[in-house]
Amino acid sequence: MERILLKNLIHTFSIDLVNWYSKNKRKLPWRDTKDPYKIWLSEIILQQTQIMQGLPYYLNFITNYPNVQALSEASENEILKMWEGLGYYSRAINLHKTAKIVSKDLKGIFPVTYKELIKLPGIGDYSASAISSFSNNEVVSVVDGNVYRFISRLLGIKTLINTPKSLKEFKAVTMKLILKDNPRDFNQAIMEFGALVCRPATPLCNGCIFKDNCYGYQNDMVFNFPIKNRKNKIRNRFFNYLVFKSVDNQTIIEKREKKGIWQNLYQFPLLETDKLIDNEEIIKHIKTLKFLKRIGSIQLFNNQNVIHKLSHQKISISYWIVNVKIIKSKSTSFDKINSYPFPKPLSNFLSIFKLQ
Ligand code: SF4
Repeated sequence: MERILLKNLIHTFSIDLVNWYSKNKRKLPWRDTKDPYKIWLSEIILQQTQIMQGLPYYLNFITNYPNVQALSEASENEILKMWEGLGYYSRAINLHKTAKIVSKDLKGIFPVTYKELIKLPGIGDYSASAISSFSNNEVVSVVDGNVYRFISRLLGIKTLINTPKSLKEFKAVTMKLILKDNPRDFNQAIMEFGALVCRPATPLCNGCIFKDNCYGYQNDMVFNFPIKNRKNKIRNRFFNYLVFKSVDNQTIIEKREKKGIWQNLYQFPLLETDKLIDNEEIIKHIKTLKFLKRIGSIQLFNNQNVIHKLSHQKISISYWIVNVKIIKSKSTSFDKINSYPFPKPLSNFLSIFKLQ
C-alpha cells in the first residue's frame, strides 16, 4: 500500500508541500539566516520544547552570545543560568562542550556538513540533518515528531516510531520525497505541515491538500498513527529541600554532581524519602547534621506539596525552612543566590521566598 501511495504522491507532493510552506510558514528568526551557529542554537533549544517557549531563550542567547566564540568563553554556570526553566539541562551542557570544540579545535568555523556535525556533543541525526540542510542546503531529510506523525498518517506506516529501525525507514521514505534542488525548504515545510495542519489531537484534515491521497484519512484511521510505545511507568519521588536561614542571611546550596535530572544545577540540601514526611521526621534528620549550631524554628513553607512532573517522574516537593543561628559550613548569602542556576521548582520557590 505504502509503495503505491508513494508512487502516486512522489510527482507532486514535494512541490505542493513547498508551495504550501511559502504561503503559510510562521515567521521565525532562525528561518531568516543560513548561519550554522544560529541554526544550531535554535535546533538545540527547540528539542522537546514548544516554539513559543523556546523563542525568548533563543533571542536571549543570540543577544548575549552572538557567535560561537562568545558562547565558548562563557562559564557553564552562566549558560545553565540562561537555560533555567527550559528543562533537559544536558542540552545546555552539551551546547557548551560543542561551542568549546568549535572555537578551539575547528578555529571558530561552525561545520555545515552532516558528517562533521554528527560528531559534536548533543548533535544527533535530527540536528545534524536540520543544520546541514538549513545552512548548507545538503540533501538529507529530517525526521522529528511532526514528520513521524504526518508521514505515518499519509502513507499508513505501521512501524513503531522513535526506534533506530523506524528512523531508518522514515528517512528512506522522506529521501524519496525530498526536493533535491531545495532540501532546505522541503525539510522546513514537512515539519511545519506536521506542526500546523497534521496536528496531533486536532488535525485539519478537511482543509488538507493531501487528503485525497492520505491513507489515514481515507481509511478513517488518522488517530491510529503514529504507532507509539505504551507509556513508560512513572516513578514517584519525594524531595524535601532543607532551606537553612541563619541570622546573618546565609544559607547552604550544593551542586547536583551525579548523573540524572538537573545535573550541574544547584539546590538546597536534599533529603529524598519514599513518602511524604512530617515535622518530627525532618527534625530527626536535621539533628544529625554537624554543621549547625543551635537550631531555631523549623517549618514547612508549602502546606500543599508542590508537584513537578517530568517525562518519567512525578516529584512531590516540600520546602522546609530551618532557622539557625550560625552555619558552620560553606555558606552562600541569600543576596547572591540568584546568580546560581537552579531547577525550575527551586527558582519558583526562591522568587516567592525572597519576596517575603
Ligand atoms: S488528511 Fe489529515 S491525517 Fe492526512 S495528512 Fe492531511 S491532516 Fe494529516
